Amino acid sequence: MDANIRLRDIPSVDELLRSAAAVEAIECFGRPAVAEALRRVLTTIRNAVRDGAEVPSLEAIAIAAIAALEANDRSSLRPLFNLTGTVLHTNLGRALLAEAAIDAATEAMREAVALEFDLESGKRGERDDHLRALIVELTGAEDATVVNNNAAAVMLTLNSLSAGRQAIVSRGELIEIGGAFRMPDIMLRSGVRLVEVGTTNRTHARDYRDAIGPDTGLILKVHTSNYRIEGFTKEVGARELAAIAHEHGLPLVNDLGSGTLTDLDRFGLAHEPTVAEAIADGADIVTFSGDKLLGGPQAGFIVGRGDLLDRINRNPMKRALRVDKIRLAALAATLRLYRDPDRLSERLPTMRLLARPQADIRRQAEQLASVVERAVDGAFDVSVIDCGSQIGSGALPLATVPSAGLALAPPSGSGRMLAELAAALRSLPMPVIGRIEHGSLVLDLRCLEDEEGFIANLARLGPSAGGSSS
Ligand SMILES: *Cc1c(COP(=O)(O)O)cnc(C)c1O
Repeated sequence: MDANIRLRDIPSVDELLRSAAAVEAIECFGRPAVAEALRRVLTTIRNAVRDGAEVPSLEAIAIAAIAALEANDRSSLRPLFNLTGTVLHTNLGRALLAEAAIDAATEAMREAVALEFDLESGKRGERDDHLRALIVELTGAEDATVVNNNAAAVMLTLNSLSAGRQAIVSRGELIEIGGAFRMPDIMLRSGVRLVEVGTTNRTHARDYRDAIGPDTGLILKVHTSNYRIEGFTKEVGARELAAIAHEHGLPLVNDLGSGTLTDLDRFGLAHEPTVAEAIADGADIVTFSGDKLLGGPQAGFIVGRGDLLDRINRNPMKRALRVDKIRLAALAATLRLYRDPDRLSERLPTMRLLARPQADIRRQAEQLASVVERAVDGAFDVSVIDCGSQIGSGALPLATVPSAGLALAPPSGSGRMLAELAAALRSLPMPVIGRIEHGSLVLDLRCLEDEEGFIANLARLGPSAGGSSS
């Protein structure tokens, strides 16, 4: 009965809506949302009061409701510090765009643009016109188009050129890229009949030759970018495979995956076949992603022979897979940067991050070690380490780029403390994502450019990071 009396002291939603905090929140979130948040908090309070708790002040109730509202209102697509050491991390959104691309996309968002409109003639233009000349210039291909992503590019190409017919591919190239992209599934869904040749580790020229028949529509080569078979292996190179395809009047489609437009050797990275090389090696169609090594927004490029691109462009699926003006603007601005390869590593974040020298990163780690040590209140041993970054998104899977960072180790080797630290870093206003390795939380600093922001953000680390509990 005591509780019943106290329940009567709980303010009503109407009373709460008149509080100063609520009036201010209504300006921001609107009345219905604030009222709903208050109702939810009141339900919790009513239960607590029944269990013997005191009734909080009116202002405290309003503030609790607004805090819940604010947390709920925050975008789930939060910016974060990618300190995983994987530069093109698919789960963290792959490439960061160049400022020129961001500006171009922003302008396209704000204004009407000549998307499918030819300003010279005043007649209807083509979406692909904005990129065609640039891609042709950068790859040596005859023609080009762009769709939603590379998975779509592969699907559209196979469907356009070989629906109902056979597509020959090596068993060693039937890869899974992660998530829902498995080459055999994509091939079947694109309507081609999959003909696997060779074995997992070895495929010979005669395997392809023997498989070609009257029902063959094309030969597909897949750059096995995300794994490597070592040892007793044999693969038919792109040039030889093109010759085999052409002997039989078939097109060779080369899915390069990451597909770079520039020689990575210039950044001290291992060689990854460029799109221009794939074209020069005789591929009739080459497909590749926009947001992997190219460093642009998500997109899938289809480049190659003009007559084949005509067939691809006539496919009704093309309409379902096309990209919008925002991405086209960002893509065109990104591609324009490739005209000046010498300044690419200044202007294109993907290249800038990949090209960062280890000594630079180590110096940064040395400077930040004490800051991080203080943030965790001495609960972890913080040491500067050398480590290896990965390109990510399947490019050069075995190659690591020499990097440096900080390793945070719990003194007792406690896995629980490590998990709690990782969770605390994830719950920062700007979450910090590292990787757990050999009983430490490793922060690879290759992708840390905003050092001041990182330090300010870290100051918000609470005692859950282990500090007070040790
Ligand atoms: C990444 C990749 C794809 C898929 O590209 P998305 O742009 O992610 O759709 C297809 N093929 C290969 C070989 C890849 O590496």
